[in-house]
Amino acid sequence: MLGIQAAERRLFDVSRKQCQGPCGLLHDEIFFHKATRAGYIYPARSNVCQACQQEARDTEKFRDRFLVKCRSTRRHHARKLGIPVEVLESEYGWYLPRMAHEAEHVYGNGCQGPCGRSFSGMANGHHDLTLDIIDRDAPPVYGANTRWICMTCNRSKGKRSLAEMARLSVCWARWNIWKKKFDIDNWAGTMFEGLVQRIS
Ligand SMILES: [Zn+2]
Ligand SMILES: [Zn+2]
Repeated sequence: MLGIQAAERRLFDVSRKQCQGPCGLLHDEIFFHKATRAGYIYPARSNVCQACQQEARDTEKFRDRFLVKCRSTRRHHARKLGIPVEVLESEYGWYLPRMAHEAEHVYGNGCQGPCGRSFSGMANGHHDLTLDIIDRDAPPVYGANTRWICMTCNRSKGKRSLAEMARLSVCWARWNIWKKKFDIDNWAGTMFEGLVQRIS
């Protein structure tokens, strides 16, 4: 029987290599993809571990998604406003990288409209994110007169005045505080106890 230390030594008795990516850890060589170029596989392996490579690719894809989304959002608004995309960018500050950065931020932090809900809980992910022109009678200056809100808030805005939207925000804020408390209670078991009382 091998002692634990001996077993560990045997397990790790393979050639190891230090990742040159963010983790910087010493890994088993198998954790580094074989370097490929134009379809040929070289015996040499990548200097960045598999996990660091994967994470970099995922982050990039996530960023790209917001860029693609912002490009189509901008095109859509340009058509609706009757202002060319180039003018929206140069005169009104609709600069794609900034838009994508802010869209990503709001996606992570919640709707900027009355509901303030988190996007991760919504059914359609980043499709639920829309760019709202707050005051449609004022110039559409990006950042000053725009905000990223969810589809539901955007739809409900169509029928309401800005004052009504402000009143709705107050209602949502109170509800969100209640919800947060409820979620905590839920974990503490009160909801479950209530349920048991109701069905027994
Ligand atoms: Zn790594
Ligand atoms: Zn919302």
